[in-house]
Order: sequence, then structure tokens, then C-alpha cells
Amino acid sequence: MATASAIDWPALEKALRRVLPPRAVVSKAQELLSYDCDGLTMDRHQPPLAVLPDSTEQVAAVLKLCHEQGVPFVARGSGTGLSGGALVEQEALLVITSRMRQVLSIDLNNQTIRVQPGVINSWVTRAVSGDGFYYAPDPSSQIACSVGGNVAENSGGVHCLKYGVTSNHVLELEVVLPDGTVTTLGGPLAEMPSLDLRGVFIGSEGTLGIATAITLRLLRQPEAVAVLLADFTSMEAAGEAVRLVTAAGILPAGMEIMDNFTIRAVDQMLEQELYPADAAAALLIELDGSSAEVELAAASTAELCRQAGARDVQVATTSEDRARLWQGRKSAISALGRLYPSYYLQDGVVPRSALPKVLARIDELSREHELPVANVFHAGDGNLHPLILYDGREEGVHQRVKDLGAAILRLCVDSGGSISGEHGVGADKRCFLDWMFSPADLETMQLVRKAFDPLQRANPGKLFPTPVSCGESSRRAQQIQLPDGVEVV
Ligand SMILES: Cc1cc2nc3c(=O)[nH]c(=O)nc-3n(C[C@H](O)[C@H](O)[C@H](O)COP(=O)(O)OP(=O)(O)OC[C@H]3O[C@@H](n4cnc5c(N)ncnc54)[C@H](O)[C@@H]3O)c2cc1C
Repeated sequence: MATASAIDWPALEKALRRVLPPRAVVSKAQELLSYDCDGLTMDRHQPPLAVLPDSTEQVAAVLKLCHEQGVPFVARGSGTGLSGGALVEQEALLVITSRMRQVLSIDLNNQTIRVQPGVINSWVTRAVSGDGFYYAPDPSSQIACSVGGNVAENSGGVHCLKYGVTSNHVLELEVVLPDGTVTTLGGPLAEMPSLDLRGVFIGSEGTLGIATAITLRLLRQPEAVAVLLADFTSMEAAGEAVRLVTAAGILPAGMEIMDNFTIRAVDQMLEQELYPADAAAALLIELDGSSAEVELAAASTAELCRQAGARDVQVATTSEDRARLWQGRKSAISALGRLYPSYYLQDGVVPRSALPKVLARIDELSREHELPVANVFHAGDGNLHPLILYDGREEGVHQRVKDLGAAILRLCVDSGGSISGEHGVGADKRCFLDWMFSPADLETMQLVRKAFDPLQRANPGKLFPTPVSCGESSRRAQQIQLPDGVEVV
């Protein structure tokens, strides 16, 4: 691979200007500043050069030039990623897909839509909702994040409990490989013969190439939807409600919990008591299906929440009432973001049964590290979103924040969970990957990566631990004292 000093940036810029339209090459320092980080704002590096192609042909021409001149590259969609995936840490060309925003075709008979990668997640549903269809994966960032970024991160969202994450909804990918070759992975049918290379690419965090066209599955809008809001005086009781509902065989479209910290932040921002300010936890449950099914499930779910200790259960069936109950959850991160200058959002996963104990331990860790932590999370699939709030101007605070984040992720892994449910590993968590995988596992993953990208020029240094990126830091989180009742699986 070319070393930083071996790259002739002026020559590359000149060559790029020849294959791209005017204003598709960004080289001014003040313009490149916009791309110095993604949603992980703690880590910043300004890229040396960026391009904004608008077609597959242009992406292929760019990657071909990179290949010829030995230049690494990093793909970027909307830059909302929370693990530093789109960060240009090493000298590399930034390839931004935000001008690739066309819906290429819609086939309602076969319930598919084909889009360019820069199309925003929520636009997909918007394009077909008039015909009674929608696109299920709905990250909380859905009004900003791109479908290409969703594919690279295998993103999840509120409705992924019932309907599955991005990989369950992508049929076909057009991909430009790191040498500039255009290829197709998957196909128009859900079941294609041969190796599932589409599946390999989804979640590969930009390390295998750049997706330039994506065929997605569309679902029919359900006949009826109900949203329940139950409030509890303890997190244990809210966790018990989640357990009772799933144990009863009810599969909600989504189950989300907000802790008291988040409830108060949301109410303060919205200037109304949307959720009871003294509740230890607010649980939102969305049920969908036929009218009869939803009516029955709503009654049973409300009863199970009361059995678990809910003080009150509200049921919303009209779209206005549902939107009102969801409003706080959807704006939770911005509400928390208003309280402190910065936040660091993690996404560890734990088995549902371990949720109350793990949350109690996170509370202790927050006190030990003297940093506030709020929790708002996808309770149905045990995907925690501990949000560490801090002021970046405080001396040494970044290391303390990272140490607390690492301690929380270690706790998740030791509780039988994972370091990431949906935000990816990126630059942020690569040093923790060896907590979950053996050296042989990691080597095998690298072999797969090298089959796509022998010279490892696509998103260099991301996802996999390297001695340079990790050093001894993968050991930095101390072995956590497990809470009572949480067993290592
Ligand atoms: C407030 C907030 C809430 C969020 N909520 C959720 C949530 O509920 N669920 C969830 O899963 N995530 C969530 N996220 C994280 C983030 O929005 C997702 O990871 C999203 O998929 C990133 O999309 P993006 O377009 O911003 O990608 P970027 O941040 O630009 O890039 C992310 C990664 O994808 C790669 N990439 C981008 N485009 C391509 C492409 N075309 N081909 C190949 N690789 C590519 C990049 O190299 C990088 O590694 C949230 C983020 C924020 C800020």
C-alpha cells in the first residue's frame, strides 16, 4: 500500500478533475473542514481531498485512479455514523455519495425499489407511502442517514425487532470494487443460488468497496397500528414487562425504553410532561397487523405491563396520538444533547434477561467515572444506547469518556452480549473486537476482506484491530465486576 508520503495529491486532484464534473472535487481546507468527523465528534481528522461523484461510472473512474496511483479511499454517506467509520484517519481520498440521490426505479408488483446510495433512509418510505408501502429499517437518524451508510453499517432501528435489520431488506447491490471494477452482488430475488456475497458486503463498513445502487424490499403498510406507553417506578419492572410480553408470544414491531434522565430531558425540551417526570422508565411498545390482531395484542400487552408493575398504560391508535407518544423517543438524543456540549453514544447489546442488572451496573460505572450516562434503547433486542454526556473543554475528559465507554462495552460482552448492535465497529471499537473473536476468527475475516481488496485500500485501518491502532489499548478496560445474576455465557 502506498505510504502517505508516496501520494502525489496535486497529480491526483488534476486527474480527478478530468473524470469528474466541475465542483465535484473539494480541495480547499475550509471546505474540507465539513468532513473532519462523523457522528463521533470526539475524533477528528481533516481529509486531504474529497470528491462528490453522482453516478456509478464516476465512482468507478475515481476508484480506478486511486488503484493506479496507490491511493487509499474512504466512502462517506451522510456522516451520521457513530463509530468513526467515515473518518479519514490516514491519508486517503474521501468519496462522498451525497450527490447520488436518485430513486432509480420502483417495482410495486414485486415490492422493490432501486436507489442510489446517497438517498436518505426516510425518502424511501416517502417515495412509496402513497401506494400503501414502506421500507422497514428505520434508524433514529432516518431523516439524515443514507441508504449506502445503512448498508455499510447493517443499520437497525425501532422496527427491526419484528422486521429485521438492513440485511433482511437488501436484495441486490451494485458495487464498485477497490480496483474500479463494477460488479453485482445478490439479485432481484430473495433466494439466489451461490455464495451470499451480498450478505458479506452488508455490514462491512466500507472496507470492501463502494455500493452505488441498492435494491430494497418494500413492505405493505399494516392495516392497524397501536402504540402503548407504560411507565414504571423501576427499570427492573420495565425489563420484566418486556420479558412478559415476549414470553407471551407477542412480537411487537418495536419496544423502546427511556430512563428517568432521558424522560426529564425530553419533557424539558418539549415543554410538556409527555412522559411522567418521576417515572424510572417509560416503555413504548408498537403493535401492528390486522385490526383484530392489534386490538387483541394491545389488550394483552397492556395487561402484562400492569402485571409487571406499570402505574399507567396509555394506548394510542390514531396516527396523531401515536406520533405524540413517539415524539419524545424520536427526539431523545437531541434532548439529551442540549444538556451538555458533547455526547458519546455507545451501542452495546446484552441478552434481554440481563437488561435490568446491566443497567444498574452502568449506573454505578457512571458514578465511579463521574460522568452522567443516560439510557434510551431498543429494549426488545437488548440493544443498549448508553449516552455519556461531557464537556469536551474539560482537561483530559476525552480519555475518561472513552474509558467509561470501554468499561460499559466490556460489561456487555461479559454479560453474554456484543460491542455493537447497529452502529458498527469503525475506528472507535476496533480495539475491542478481540474481546469477541479469536485471532483465528479475525484472520479469517481479513482473508475475506483481502478477496475483495487485496491491497486494503478501502477504508484503511477500520473495523479490524491492528497493532498500530490498538497497541495495548484493547486491554484498557479492566475486567468488570459482574452484577449478581448476570452470567458469562
Ligand atoms: C442521532 C443519531 C441516531 C442514530 N440512530 C441509529 C439507529 O437507531 N440505528 C442505527 O443503526 N444507527 C443509528 N445511528 C447511526 C448512523 O445514523 C447509521 O450508522 C447510518 O447507517 C450511517 O449512515 P450515513 O449515511 O450517515 O453513513 P456515514 O456515517 O457517512 O458512513 C458510515 C459507514 O458507511 C460507509 N459507507 C457510507 N456509504 C457507503 C457506500 N455507499 N458504500 C460503502 N460504504 C459506505 C462509510 O465508509 C462508513 O464506514 C444514529 C446516528 C445518530 C447521529
